[in-house]
Amino acid sequence: MRLESTPEVEAFRHRVRAFVAEHAPGTRTHAGVRAPEPELMPAIRVWTAKLYEAGLLGIDWPAEYGGRPGAHPLEPFVVAEEISRARTWPPVGAASLVSAALIEFGSDDQRARFLPRIRTCEDVWCQLFSEPGAGSDLAALRTRARLEGDVFVVDGQKVWTTNGQYADMGYLLARTDPDSPKHRGITAFALDMRSPGVDVRPLREITGTTDFNEVFLDGVRIPAGNVIGRVNSGWRVAMSSLGRERSGVAARGVELFAMLDDLVRLAQEIPVGGRPALDDSATRQVIGELATRAHVNAAMLGLAQSRMLHGTEQPGDGPIGKIFFSEVNHDLTAFGVRLQGTDGLLTEGDPHVPAGGWWQDAHLYSRAYTIAGGANEVLLTQIAERALGLPREPARGSNP
Ligand SMILES: Cc1cc2nc3c(=O)[nH]c(=O)nc-3n(C[C@H](O)[C@H](O)[C@H](O)COP(=O)(O)OP(=O)(O)OC[C@H]3O[C@@H](n4cnc5c(N)ncnc54)[C@H](O)[C@@H]3O)c2cc1C
Repeated sequence: MRLESTPEVEAFRHRVRAFVAEHAPGTRTHAGVRAPEPELMPAIRVWTAKLYEAGLLGIDWPAEYGGRPGAHPLEPFVVAEEISRARTWPPVGAASLVSAALIEFGSDDQRARFLPRIRTCEDVWCQLFSEPGAGSDLAALRTRARLEGDVFVVDGQKVWTTNGQYADMGYLLARTDPDSPKHRGITAFALDMRSPGVDVRPLREITGTTDFNEVFLDGVRIPAGNVIGRVNSGWRVAMSSLGRERSGVAARGVELFAMLDDLVRLAQEIPVGGRPALDDSATRQVIGELATRAHVNAAMLGLAQSRMLHGTEQPGDGPIGKIFFSEVNHDLTAFGVRLQGTDGLLTEGDPHVPAGGWWQDAHLYSRAYTIAGGANEVLLTQIAERALGLPREPARGSNP
């Protein structure tokens, strides 16, 4: 039971838990929002389609596209939490972002074309926003789209495109009016990733895995009918999506409890001075402190959800939750590595590495949560300006 929950929501949670146990495609081997191995993708597509079919995804979509208007607003969080709790695969790609954009800003034709294929997971979407010179300052993006007849021709480069290697469709931002102030000349598009001129190149990260890509766009032709919202109004579309992305990161807080269980197991297995590390009071104190912070994180998320239900959200809710979660997650994984002593230097693949190197990978990945969904430093400025009403930073774009 949790804040604002009801017996009906808890009954729903049990149904979701049973569904996940029966249908999920196995356990993820890495922490975080990671790209699956290619051979797993068919099973993940089937799993995603089953979630939609069972009414567990797309809950807030219009009924004509399979949504369940009137469902309790906590249901989407419950589904995300149960998927996280089971440590199985969430839907791969940016479907939740683009479907919300299509529902709010798209045309009837676009909703009819794209939403059913998201439901069946025939189309995996990626998010083509960030560029080498446009991350936090997203409005500085330089990818150009020029109208030629009834087609836009796009040239430019995107980066940090999660799951771009699997994407069938891209949710793209490009500059359509270079003469307007930078926030105004941007347009959102639905891009078929198989179009000629789209080149997806994998990036290998500090973790050794390939979760991101660079995407090069060279003379790519997009029909004008694929503009999401109005031409030059893409900033509004993007801002709506980025708000959702941040709450998505905070909702992963449930994973902290599973990680704490693992940390206790690790502390039982690792000897310090001939006894399990868990017998050491300094170790127990750190675990106690991390557990306290995981509970505070859960309470903060509950409070933010409660305000959402009552229509009393505060401007700091999303940023504070995201920053707090990312910092607890970072410190928890750091302690998982530190507990291992010099074995903490070993990584995945070494036969002697404790817990298969899971903690090392999770710790290296933990930096990603301090950046994804808005860099923490940028969110701190937002809290100062929007929640505390402090004077604004000198004008520049932001990727909040
Ligand atoms: C896990 C993950 C997944 C991602 N997936 C995608 C994706 O699928 N699609 C996509 O388009 N993008 C994606 N991104 C990119 C993400 O949106 C950007 O990384 C983010 O917006 C930050 O931009 P940047 O990396 O260019 O860093 P920069 O903006 O260059 O920031 C670098 C450093 O400068 C600091 N900084 C910048 N501006 C300010 C300021 N005004 N005040 C104080 N400090 C500042 C930042 O906090 C940061 O520490 C992903 C990122 C991560 C980590």
